[in-house]
Parts: sequence; C-alpha cells; structure tokens
Amino acid sequence: MAEDTKLWLKPISRRKFLALSAATAGGAAALATLSWDKKAGAVPGGGTAGAGETIVPTSCVHNCGGRCPLYAHVKEGVVTWFTPDQEGNDNPDFPQARACLRGRSQRKRLYHPDRLKYPMKRVGKRGEGKFARITWDEALDTIAKELQRIKGTYGNEAIYINYATGVYGQVSQSWITPAFGGALPRFLNMFGGYLGYYNTYSSACFSYAAPYTFGAVEGNSPDDLLNSKLIVLFADNPGETRLGGANGHYYLRLAKEKGARVIVVDPRYTDTAVTLADEWIPIRPTTDNALIDALAYVMINENLHDQAFLDKYCLGFDEEHMPPGIPPGNSYKSYVLGQGDDKTPKTPEWAEAITGVPQDTIIKLARQIAGIKPCCLMQGFGWQRHAYGEQPVRGLPVLAAMTGNIGIRGGGPGLRNGGHGVVVGWMPAGQNPVKATIPCFIWPEAIERGHEMTAADGVKGVAKLPTDIKMVWNYGGNTLLNQHSDINKTAKILADEKKCEFILVHDVFMTPSAKFADILLPDVTHFEREDIVTFASGIGYAIYHQKVVDPMYECRSLYDVCSELAKRLGFGDQYTEGKSEQDWLREAVKVAQQKDPNFPGFEEFRRKGIYKVAPRDPIVAYEKQIKDPANNPFKTPSGKIEIFSPALWAMNNPKEIPAIPKYIPAWEGPEDPLRAKYPLQCIGPHYKRRVHSTFDNVPWMEEAARQEMWINPRDAAERGLKDGDQARVFNDRGELVIPVKVTPRIMPGVVAIPQGAWWTPDAKGVDQRGSINILTKYHPTPLAHGNPQHTNLVQVARA
Ligand code: SF4
Repeated sequence: MAEDTKLWLKPISRRKFLALSAATAGGAAALATLSWDKKAGAVPGGGTAGAGETIVPTSCVHNCGGRCPLYAHVKEGVVTWFTPDQEGNDNPDFPQARACLRGRSQRKRLYHPDRLKYPMKRVGKRGEGKFARITWDEALDTIAKELQRIKGTYGNEAIYINYATGVYGQVSQSWITPAFGGALPRFLNMFGGYLGYYNTYSSACFSYAAPYTFGAVEGNSPDDLLNSKLIVLFADNPGETRLGGANGHYYLRLAKEKGARVIVVDPRYTDTAVTLADEWIPIRPTTDNALIDALAYVMINENLHDQAFLDKYCLGFDEEHMPPGIPPGNSYKSYVLGQGDDKTPKTPEWAEAITGVPQDTIIKLARQIAGIKPCCLMQGFGWQRHAYGEQPVRGLPVLAAMTGNIGIRGGGPGLRNGGHGVVVGWMPAGQNPVKATIPCFIWPEAIERGHEMTAADGVKGVAKLPTDIKMVWNYGGNTLLNQHSDINKTAKILADEKKCEFILVHDVFMTPSAKFADILLPDVTHFEREDIVTFASGIGYAIYHQKVVDPMYECRSLYDVCSELAKRLGFGDQYTEGKSEQDWLREAVKVAQQKDPNFPGFEEFRRKGIYKVAPRDPIVAYEKQIKDPANNPFKTPSGKIEIFSPALWAMNNPKEIPAIPKYIPAWEGPEDPLRAKYPLQCIGPHYKRRVHSTFDNVPWMEEAARQEMWINPRDAAERGLKDGDQARVFNDRGELVIPVKVTPRIMPGVVAIPQGAWWTPDAKGVDQRGSINILTKYHPTPLAHGNPQHTNLVQVARA
C-alpha cells in the first residue's frame, strides 16, 4: 500500500476537524441539518389553526428508517404548511418524532407539476418513455386480461411483485413480506398467488448472516446508549440515515452529553462524525474484517479478552471450544494468530496494509474497546452492501463477545439497535398459495433463466423455479431500474418484451422505473387517502394519517385498483368484504387495542394522529441467554453464540462462505488488479436530501443539498479537478457526469456518489444526473444473495 496514504491516514480529532472545516459550507450544512429548527412552522402543542385554516393529522411514510407525524395546515382545500410533532417535553422517556427536512418539503411533492395524472399505455419501445393516455376502464381491463393470460400460460409463479419501499401503511404498502398484510398481497393471494421474495436491498447480508451467529437478530434499544461509556460506530451514520422520528442521532447525542466517548469508523467523515465523534478512523471500503481481525489479534496478544465469557457462551473461539469432527486450526483464534491454513497472523501491520488504518491506531482502538465497559459496538448497513457483506456482520459480534459486552446494559451484541415497538393490525392478506420465493436482488436473473434456478441461486420453498418471471407488478418503488445494480444491463433485460411480457407500474411520478411500464397507473400520495404506520425506536409509536386533500387528477389508490381488478376477475366481494379503507383501519386499531389496552379508540387515534407507547426499560438483547444460559439457550443449533458455524462449514465453500467470519479480499476491492485501470473505490451513501430515490425531483431538496460526488483533494488534484467542476465517472459498465465536492471528509482512493439520483441518460447513454447504479455490478453476495452496491472500481476525469 502506498506510503503516502499511510501518512494521510492519521486519525483526526473532532476539535481539529471543526477548526479546519469551520469556514466550509459542508461543515456548516451538516451542523445546520441537525439543529432541529423549531422556528420552521413552529405551532405550540401540535398546531393551532389560523383563520380559515384546518389542521389535519398526517405523516411522512417513506423508507428512511423512521416515520414521522405531520400536521397539515389546509386552507380552502390546499395544504399551505406542515408542522411537525410537538407533543410533550421532548425528553428521553418521551421524545418527539420531529420531521426532517424531507418531510417538511412534502408540499412540493404533493403539488409537483410532474405528478402522473391519468392512466397511460406504452406506445413506443419499452423503456423509451412514450405513452398515450387511456381510460381507467381500458387500463384495468388490460391488466385483468394480462393477469389471466400469464397465469394461464405460465402459472402464478410467473407473476412477481418487485421489491419496493416507497409507500408504507397497514393497507397500502409497497414492501411485501409474509409477515405483513396489505391490499396488494391480499389481491394476488386470492388470484392464486405470486412469486415472493425475501431479503431487502438495505440489509440482505445483515438479516441473513447474523442468525448464523445468534440464531435470531436482536439489538439493544437506542435508549440504552445512555448506559454506554464507549460507542464505536462502524459504517453507521444515523446523523444522516436516521433523521426525524427514528431519533438515532438524538440518543447518541444524549449519550455523548452523558459522557460517552464516540468513535466513527467510516471512509467518510460523515455528518454523525462531524457532530458527535471524538475520533474518526477512515478505512478503505470492503476491508472492515481485516480491521476486526487485527483488533482481535491485539486483544489476544495482550490478553485483553474475556476468556471466561467466551468459554461459557461461545462456540469456536478457540480450539478447546470447537464442535466435534472439525480438524485443528479452524477456530477463530487459530485464524487470527496465523495458525490456520493461511499461516498469516492478522497483526496490526498486516491490517494497515489492507485497510489503510495505521497500526498504532488499531492497537489504540483495540485497547479502548477492551478497556472501557460497557462498550457498544454498532454496525450500520453500509458495510454489508459489499462483495462479501456477510463477513463484517458476523465479525463485529466476535469483538462484542471477546469483550463480554453481550447481554448487558450499555453494551450490545455488535449488531444494530433494536427498538420498542407497537403492534397494529394489517389488512389481512391470507396465505400465498405459491411457495417459491427468491432473494429480492436476483429478479432480473429470474426473468432471464428462472426456470433453471434452484437453491444454489437462493430459491426457497421449491427445489427449482417452474418458470421465468413473465409479469412484474411494481408498486411505489424505483428498484425496477434506478435502485437496482447495473442499470444498463437491467434496462436491456427489461426492454426485451419476449422475456418479461408485461410490466405494470403504479406510482406518483414518471421515475426511471416507470418508463419501462406497459401500463402506467397514477397513484395517490398518502395525503390523498387514509392509513396507519408504526415505528419502533427508543419508544414505539403509531401514526394515523387522515386524508388531507381529495385525490388529485385521476389518481387512484392501491386498494381502489385492487378492488376494481378483483371485481373484473370475479372475486370483488370476497376481496373487499364490502369495506372501505377506513373500515379496514378500524379493524387494525381493534388488533392494536387487544395487544395494548392503552391504545386509544379509533376516533381518538384518528383525531390526534399519533399514539406513543409509555416509556419502558431499555431492551437489552440476549440478556436472558447471558443471565441464565441453562434455561435460555441461544437459538442456534448448539445453543451458543456460534463464532464457528457448523452450518456454514457444511456448505463446503470456505473461500467465500467461511465457517468463521474472515477478511476476504473483494472483487473490485483495493487488492483487485483491476485498480490499474480503475483506481478509485466508489461507494453510494444515503443522502439526507432523499429517501433512496424519493424526493430526488423536489427542488427544495436540490437547493438544500445538491447531487455531488465527494473526492479527496489529493485525488482531485491528480485529475485537475476543482470544487464544483463537472467530472466524468466511468468503468466498463457505464458512465455518468456529476459535479465534484473536493473535501478532506473522504479518504484518498475513495469517491462517494449519493445513491438515489434518477437515471437521466443522454443520447449516448451517459447519465447526466449522477445515478450511481450506472456503475454498480450485478453480482449477488455468496451466502445471502444480497446486493454489493458499494463495491465498485471507477476512474474519474474532468468532463
Ligand atoms: S423522511 Fe423520514 S425522518 Fe424525514 S420526515 Fe419523513 S419519515 Fe420523518
């Protein structure tokens, strides 16, 4: 690794950085974002109506990691303002769920001139974006006919609801899992079923790999951070990704005020690091396990680890605690000390060459983690959207176990926060008669060769898929194209009408995904219908959003569309049971009241708009298993924390799916020879101005935080780039142009393009907006079949 990189990578103190960045717009913007500006629309006590004004409880319901109540001020039928949650004293027991800048800009989304206004059918080639207006009857008749044709020709397994998260609600919800209900799965289940998916684009490796260690995924609740003395955030940036009601940053700030030390490990000096960190440790993307291994090495070498905890609760830390029948040299300790197959001790020197983290920083960090208790080791989702994203997910819990921080207050299992929840009923969906499911990331492959796909591809429920996907129903989401990897490749698959024969899109805007529709339906926003959403965090809460304005243009809700289709297909009465959306919500509240006697009645809940569950003690994950292991074994096959997983060992793929978490050099990582051609690692962080791709077209958000690529001054200088210049970013998969932000807030060798910008190709196919998925690779991770969208090598040049 280049010596000059080592020199640059000395950790930087928060005080020093703030002094350096005091004059920069970036630092100021980051701080301003988190100032919780009460002046913006402040109305005491949740809202006081002005003359001729009514205030209607509503919400913000996208996939930001939070949910927030909003109070719409309506005058003469027009929303003029939103005020956020202002209930209570905003203390840790009863925090407010105050909307972030995105929620407060919702008027610009509701009244956006580009709203889809009426149903349309495709008239050009698929993907060209040429459509003609049709009536609702023609649209619904066509959809009903296509559903019947595809079911009759290929079976229900050929019908796929694409992964989407743009709309949340107990009736209208775009993210579909068997645990949820809602209008869409209810309709398709009654129609004979559909090909389902598992995983998410956010956290596939996390959700899939963590159970191999613990048997189930749990985390201490965020209010427990107030009990921590040291908090180390690995690729976790709640100051940007858990804004508003999620309150991720709020609890960290309270912990910090109480005296906790905060360290951030991340390639970027994130908003969280700027505002809270005592120390920032930059690290090359995809190399996190090398750091974890070296931290473990230091702890073992200096005898800092909690051997008694490991002996009592863990399987596979050392050779004395291995499952029977495993050859010597396969324990975690043997691997770390270089006594396994690779004969490589995972020393800080070894890790420095891979990660770029100086060895003295690694030693100091290991001593801090082992020496300050309780210590919360927290992982974000970013590091698992990598080529081998399963490894850090299982790696960090080893450090939590080595330091005895699992099952105690202020500690945690090295996963992510859990949260206090609240249960509200769903519109019942029934059972999906189709048993087959696929990982949500692999759907384009299932269009091309679904009939060949088996368990090796991640197929569950059947030995082999009986058919390719022939119809995609895309409701409230942009993963059909924009949010999926390798846009150019995906666009080609979608454009071929012989492969996927029918694409239905139901959305609010003409997104890049919507351009690939055969029939395009205009959806209402959630301000034009009623629903309930819930959220789990330091407290749990449920929000009722009333209809604020009547449906605009010819827009129709999901329930309305499904009811009309069910009528055409002969099961309309069975589908609706004669109930309105509000009737279903009344039943949802009855379920909530059965679970929680304090849950208010329907009318009160609807009028007030929010119910917050009374404060409870913090959740301590796996507390029972640690306090009384004999009666509360972990839900793993051994009943222990499986640092060594016999189930993974049995997969017999040690290079990509090792039985213990390991550093595996990533394709398109810092050790890939492809770096000679494409020398920069490109990551796609979440951006406070968008929720994934939602809000990208809202002008206020562009003014608040424009789409731009972070590049280190050294990499910029090598390319003759100055702050604000337009740059070309390219690899073998595609090219985009984007303005650059030249900043020391990103380490050399890494560039960051905020994910979610809408793909906008010019005539040559060069994206003009900075849509990172023109550069990302379709290459599912080995175990979870998840998306590796932060693993990309690129070159950057002046445009
Ligand atoms: S985007 Fe998220 S945090 Fe912001 S207002 Fe909406 S729900 Fe709240």
